Amino acid sequence: MSAPTYDLGTLHGGLRLPGHKTASTSKPIIEVPVPSQLVLPITQHVGDPSQPVVGIGERVLKGQLIAETDGTLGAPVHAPSSGKVIAIEPWPVSRRYGKNAPCIVIECDGKDEAVQRVESPANFTTLAAEDLLTRILQGGIVGLGGAVFPTAQKLMQARTCKIDHLLLNGVECESYISCDDLLMRERAGEIISGAQILMHALQINVCFIAVESDKPDAIRSLGLVLGEISDDRIVIKQVPTIYPSGGEDQLVQLVTNREVPSGGLPSDVGCLVQNVGTTAAIHDWIVDNEPLISRVTTITGDGVASPVNVRARIGTVLSDIIEIAGGYTDSAKQLIIGGPMTGKSVTTDRVPLVKATNCVLVSSETPSPGPALPCIRCGDCAAVCPVQLLPQQLYWYACADDEENLREFGLMDCIECGCCDLVCPSHIPMTADFRVAKGRIRELADEKARAARARQRFEARSDRLQREQAERDLELAQQKAIAQKAGPSAIAEILKRKLENKDDE
Ligand code: SF4
Ligand code: SF4
Repeated sequence: MSAPTYDLGTLHGGLRLPGHKTASTSKPIIEVPVPSQLVLPITQHVGDPSQPVVGIGERVLKGQLIAETDGTLGAPVHAPSSGKVIAIEPWPVSRRYGKNAPCIVIECDGKDEAVQRVESPANFTTLAAEDLLTRILQGGIVGLGGAVFPTAQKLMQARTCKIDHLLLNGVECESYISCDDLLMRERAGEIISGAQILMHALQINVCFIAVESDKPDAIRSLGLVLGEISDDRIVIKQVPTIYPSGGEDQLVQLVTNREVPSGGLPSDVGCLVQNVGTTAAIHDWIVDNEPLISRVTTITGDGVASPVNVRARIGTVLSDIIEIAGGYTDSAKQLIIGGPMTGKSVTTDRVPLVKATNCVLVSSETPSPGPALPCIRCGDCAAVCPVQLLPQQLYWYACADDEENLREFGLMDCIECGCCDLVCPSHIPMTADFRVAKGRIRELADEKARAARARQRFEARSDRLQREQAERDLELAQQKAIAQKAGPSAIAEILKRKLENKDDE
């Protein structure tokens, strides 16, 4: 028996993009063998950097903690297989798009020996919600849809709001990417188990799994599991196949008809959104005791011989994974981490797979946007903007560094989807400029916050010094008054002490 499904409304703006997914979805997920070497960036999440807790030469086991987070926003990193740490050094990484970042390099011993955990697999319903959140934090789990926001912190933030809906995001609207589709087909049970864990952690009873209507196999698999377990708190919702219906705010609007306010979060309207891959990772950790050490990713494009979805250990370098997809074709020209709309080119395939890597696109096309022409005020960019912004106006303000108007016209709500660029007949690269302008505004805000903190510290110190001086003056005045009563020798003694105090100061 399959669970009921519902068709919903449509997204404002957006685009119907060509899928290019048939080749990678025509075969099951392939397991990538443990490579001879794993390269683990110590920071694979949004937030404070993690710190290595292993040294060079140390033997590590599969699932062992190798970098821990000491900040309020962060996620630990675990060894994906057993072996020896041979280096902690800078390495090119995809998350920073070509720049080097500190990585722990493990020479694998081929034994894949796992760390012995003290805890046996937990029956999560016996755990208090707070304990469950602490355990999720320890598993190194982050948002696998690409945002890599630490999941535990997102849940903790959500618990401070009145959350009543959990939304599982199975919407994979960008061309070429199909890892979540395959995951829903093959691991529907784990995804739904993860949803039940999250509902227990959040103490809520409504969960919608949003899947695009062009993924009938995924919908069928999820429906079969729901039919078997008879958990009527969880319902599948079909959404239209329009890019970018998988954006968090857009999904909330589509599925619940609630509008996330400008500058706000889905939790402001009672919703928590989690990617289906993240939910399966929560199951793997809480039920099977395996932290986030592998993920499913799509290797695709006309630059590889056999597009496919693979499950690979985090830290496997891309050249090893591309081999599994039959290697490069003669036409391969460009390597993109992510999809064609939001992904970024990298110049080497020695970058490691990280928690954020949902797709590796090998394209036969080189980036050739052509020269940008003047805006002809056609309005197409505004018509497709899913956030209902005025991209041409924002572009004008971005070029002029006009921070006030950029804020006023909602730049910080831009989700960098790239729809405006794609339809612009003048080939104006607006999204890249929006990304830079947003970064600049955030930096300015950080600088202002730092300056405000420094001013507060300075004022607090000045107040303290003034207070201490006033106390000393008062004490001296009191002593003087006593000495005047006592006679000239006592006055001489007080003056001597005053001079000594000045020397100390
Ligand atoms: S990139 Fe930003 S401005 Fe352009 S369409 Fe997307 S949300 Fe709108
Ligand atoms: S789509 Fe391009 S040409 Fe048309 S209004 Fe927008 S920026 Fe101008």
